[in-house]
Amino acid sequence: MTAFPHLFRPIDLGSVRLANRIVMGSMHTRLETLDRPLERVARFYVERAKGGAALIITGGFSPNAEGLMEPGAPLFDSREQLGEHRPITQAVHDAGGRIALQILHAGRYARVPDAVGPSTIASPINPNAPRRMSEADILRTIEDYATTAALAREAGYDGVEIMGSEGYLINEFTAPRTNDRADDWGGNLENRLRLPTAIMARVRERVGKDFLIIFRVSSIDLVEGGLTAEEIAAEARAVEAAGADVINQGIGWHEARIPTIAQKVPRAAWTFAARLLKDAVKISVIASNRINTPQLAEEVLARGDADLVSMARPMLADAEFANKAREGRADEINVCIACNQACLDLIFSKRVATCLVNPKAGREIEFDAPPPAKQKRVAVVGAGPAGLACAVTVAERGHRVTLYEADTRIGGQLNLARNVPGKEEFDETLRYYRTRIERLGIDLQLGRRPSAEALAAGGFDEIVIATGVTPRMPDIPGIDHANCTSYADILSGRRTAGRRVAVMGAGGIGFDVAEFLTSAPQDVAASQAYFRSEWGVDASIASRGGLNGGRQGHSVPSPLVGEGQGGGDGRTSAVGTPPTPIPSPQGGGEEQGGGEARQIVMLQRKSGRMGRGLGVSTGWVLRLLLAKRKVAQVTGVAYRWIDDAGLHIAVEGEERVVPADTIVICAGQEPAGSLHDELAARGVKVHLIGGAERAAELDAMRAIDQGTRLAYTF
Ligand code: NAP
Ligand code: SF4
Repeated sequence: MTAFPHLFRPIDLGSVRLANRIVMGSMHTRLETLDRPLERVARFYVERAKGGAALIITGGFSPNAEGLMEPGAPLFDSREQLGEHRPITQAVHDAGGRIALQILHAGRYARVPDAVGPSTIASPINPNAPRRMSEADILRTIEDYATTAALAREAGYDGVEIMGSEGYLINEFTAPRTNDRADDWGGNLENRLRLPTAIMARVRERVGKDFLIIFRVSSIDLVEGGLTAEEIAAEARAVEAAGADVINQGIGWHEARIPTIAQKVPRAAWTFAARLLKDAVKISVIASNRINTPQLAEEVLARGDADLVSMARPMLADAEFANKAREGRADEINVCIACNQACLDLIFSKRVATCLVNPKAGREIEFDAPPPAKQKRVAVVGAGPAGLACAVTVAERGHRVTLYEADTRIGGQLNLARNVPGKEEFDETLRYYRTRIERLGIDLQLGRRPSAEALAAGGFDEIVIATGVTPRMPDIPGIDHANCTSYADILSGRRTAGRRVAVMGAGGIGFDVAEFLTSAPQDVAASQAYFRSEWGVDASIASRGGLNGGRQGHSVPSPLVGEGQGGGDGRTSAVGTPPTPIPSPQGGGEEQGGGEARQIVMLQRKSGRMGRGLGVSTGWVLRLLLAKRKVAQVTGVAYRWIDDAGLHIAVEGEERVVPADTIVICAGQEPAGSLHDELAARGVKVHLIGGAERAAELDAMRAIDQGTRLAYTF
């Protein structure tokens, strides 16, 4: 008996029977750009099929050249390409899986010179203005969708998904935002729904009855000029009537200024919109976005919000997600933490997707090393991300591992990160490692700092030093003043920030600290109601696009002595907090009661915009959030000294002071690798990984990848 009865109930979708309700959602990986692309893509999907996902939906393939996301992006418009697909469908079927091809015409998001759309209205995220499609263009495009679907059938796919959401071509026709046409393809709702309906009908006609067709409908557009709930329901009914077997839930256009899948989005935040689709149609509905555990998926299905659950990133994080859930091993699932760092951020920067918590994702063929000939005794010192990944992978390869950690718990820097709102998802990573350590029989020595002498005499075949980093304290007069503290003290709760805070350093951690100090407590921030209120999401979708404005911060005088109200030079903004003071994670009682708001100033020495190094897909969320909360940002700063008055700086040669009762130092880290040096000095062979090896640009992605790859050399 499974703990997830709704999740593991088989379902019939038209001609296709699925063994469970878990769908691996579409995600473009760019794997096709690497060497041995067919082998890589096939292996990537096969691992997920073997892992129990009932249906896999491929990344998007354009039905024609003008619908390409970018030059060279996946296109499926001719029989000559069948050979690029058959080995993949065959491999997935051999593994017992089902696979559908997604057809995606990018419309005005296409970064190709001849991009098209319903109108010439350009997208704010694409410099190319589209060409307005003629009636002949529209009719040809409908036929192109049908041709790609027919080719998919010939290539052995079990079905297709027609991408009708996220602001791509079909969505552009449905929404007044982008459709200003006065002909049969624009204007009233019936005309705006003509394209999705016609594509659906023609595809069904070409592929016949016994072929799965999923239509992805935008369940909430999150842009001005988007659809209302009534119109969305009408679209779902229209594509159902035209022959769709299943409706998949799309959420938000890519140009929306509301996050839809980032860590800041609470889990299952959009199932209210899946419910809207479910109530509109009789066919099955798939819920999507920020559903990352089997428990959550089960709840969504049990509530009746949807019939199936789509998980794209969670399948990168753990190919065996479904099998582990079914077999009562849910505590062994490596859960997607919604960081986007190794998947979407890499894709958006034209690199190939993998996963922060699972570096083997998309790199399966690189981890095919045979089992080691001899079992080794391995010591790993440091149970942060690098050490944990290394220790667990070494043990999985059959070696005996002793893992030392100076703290009384595993996690290292993850224990700090997990306190930032949204980043509590790291708790899942820590739970995963704790379970793996226990099941693999790793000898975990907490509260232990082994000496070089003890390690050298310990009889280990391999010694790995993963002792991490220490926060950098810059050499500034007064840095030891009582009002100075490190980010580690603030994030761990060892120190409480006062009312006037200067954040020195604006890398990822400086932003995290500013977010931490201005946010509601994690449990409040993680609630769907709080998220909707902060970002202005109208859950009734009575308004176009489901927008209602959201909370806005208010301006208060700039904290920089010597400056006028509101800065004025474009680099310094006024400081404040949201109009309704929100409870602080630092527990300031006055704030909760509506007392003086906390003022925060972030500073960095570099000039130019702050936060350039933040993730492509998530940095804008953080920047927007801090701007809403009126956090001041000052760049091009020279630090002078610190005293009772606060932080003395010079900006463009002008001396200023940032009054501050707390100065949080977020100035990067230094490697803590002295144990390595001591062992090396004794002539002991030793490996150095993670922040202890190189603190600059350290992040969990590099640490986990490095630890995992080192383990494969033993
Ligand atoms: P970081 O990104 O290297 O930023 C360090 C900051 O300190 C910079 O703003 C730098 O700016 C300043 N700084 C450096 N040396 C200084 C000195 N001697 N005196 C004063 N200021 C100094 O490091 P981090 O913020 O500690 O983050 C560590 C790693 O974790 C990074 O790789 C980061 O990307 C990652 N991380 C990412 C995120 C995220 O993407 N959301 C969140 C957390 C951590 P100036 O030199 O211009 O002053
Ligand atoms: Fe999830 Fe992050 Fe992995 Fe992407 S990189 S799949 S968001 S854990």
